[in-house]
Amino acid sequence: MKVLIVGAGIAGPTTAFWLNKAGHEVTIVEHAPQLRRGGYLIDFWGAGYDVAEKMGIVPELRRRGYVMTEARAINRDGKKVASFSPEVIIESAKKYLSIARSDLSAVIYESLADEVELILGDTVRKLDDNGSRVRVTFESGNTRDFDLVIGADGLHSRVRRLAFGPDADYETYLGMFVTAFQGTGYPVRNELTAMMYADIGFQALRLSLRDDVTLFLFSVRHDGEVPTDRPEQEALLRAKLADAGWEVPAMLDVMSGAEDFYFDSVSQIRMPSWSKGRIALVGDAGACPSFLAGQGSALGMVEGYTLATEIAANSDHREAFARYHERLAPLIRSKQDAAQGLGLAFAPKNRFQLAVRNTILKMMGLPKVADIVMGRSFHDAVELPAFPEAGPIR
Ligand SMILES: Cc1cc2nc3c(=O)[nH]c(=O)nc-3n(C[C@H](O)[C@H](O)[C@H](O)COP(=O)(O)OP(=O)(O)OC[C@H]3O[C@@H](n4cnc5c(N)ncnc54)[C@H](O)[C@@H]3O)c2cc1C
Repeated sequence: MKVLIVGAGIAGPTTAFWLNKAGHEVTIVEHAPQLRRGGYLIDFWGAGYDVAEKMGIVPELRRRGYVMTEARAINRDGKKVASFSPEVIIESAKKYLSIARSDLSAVIYESLADEVELILGDTVRKLDDNGSRVRVTFESGNTRDFDLVIGADGLHSRVRRLAFGPDADYETYLGMFVTAFQGTGYPVRNELTAMMYADIGFQALRLSLRDDVTLFLFSVRHDGEVPTDRPEQEALLRAKLADAGWEVPAMLDVMSGAEDFYFDSVSQIRMPSWSKGRIALVGDAGACPSFLAGQGSALGMVEGYTLATEIAANSDHREAFARYHERLAPLIRSKQDAAQGLGLAFAPKNRFQLAVRNTILKMMGLPKVADIVMGRSFHDAVELPAFPEAGPIR
């Protein structure tokens, strides 16, 4: 079959890898003029790690990634409030690493080894599903026919909007925005340590990366509109953090000159179904658990693998799409529910929540405490289907 995947982030290239392995003819269209660099660091673990193992990319992920040895919570004076090793909260520490989101994306994409067509700097304008194929009109004006279209274009998915309806029908804003940027030569470094300072309404995180790069990440409570242009975004962050302590003023100085700047609302996408006719969604596009879940990339890979496996195993795409949803909807729902309760960890609303957060962090080092506190959200209750190696159905 000819399959168009929209979006070359994490879920898109993963889906492409497995569909290509099943013998399908895959095209990826990515609206950015080049594959994205920089961005933020993600923790990578759980069932998504198992998918990466199946793809043979773990050695490269480990080479480009980091294994953090400490998460340290500090107060506005820089004094330690709590400290623990991330290993204790991730069940199998051997299957855990931290890596730039763009490096994870690049490693997956590189594993496609030029066997998949990539169109950069274009996107879909119109999707016309007539039941036997989807006629796609691109922004460039080109028109092409595909058997299936997979939307892997992230939280603000255009495929979702075109095929399923307005964002407002599916997006739940969690009352927070998140921003990340990088700088070189920042004077303070704490190797392999996540430095976290939270106060009422926000958390600031600093991570020292290779090549003298420092990554800064802020999660901030915000009830109004989330601005979309950079000057307004920077102004909002400065206003929100006007009274912040620790190194926040110095961090904000780095922001002004940062080339790489990420800013977005913290939202979830909840849908009753991830497919309509010959169009389906993977990753954040259909099931964003939000950054609070700390697992969206890994889940996006699980979704890409499961969807492609079901397409390979079923001659009828309707059957494949239904089984894909059936297999993963309970897992995604439980991850989303758990994430909704984690807001206090990333931006406590008030003094009480701040105190609760700090107490939890102090207890994190104790075995099993994290499981109890987070409602066992660190476990992936999912069995990955076996990929039909012996004979793909086309
Ligand atoms: C601050 C932060 C921290 C996070 N931490 C973690 C973590 O610790 N662990 C974890 O697993 N996850 C984490 N996540 C979540 C994770 O980044 C996402 O869940 C993951 O990137 C989703 O992958 P995706 O492929 O679905 O979408 P994306 O990674 O968003 O990729 C979508 C791709 O589609 C492209 N695109 C968008 N629109 C179009 C269009 N119209 N046409 C064509 N292409 C388009 C984009 O340019 C992009 O390349 C975090 C997220 C944030 C914001």
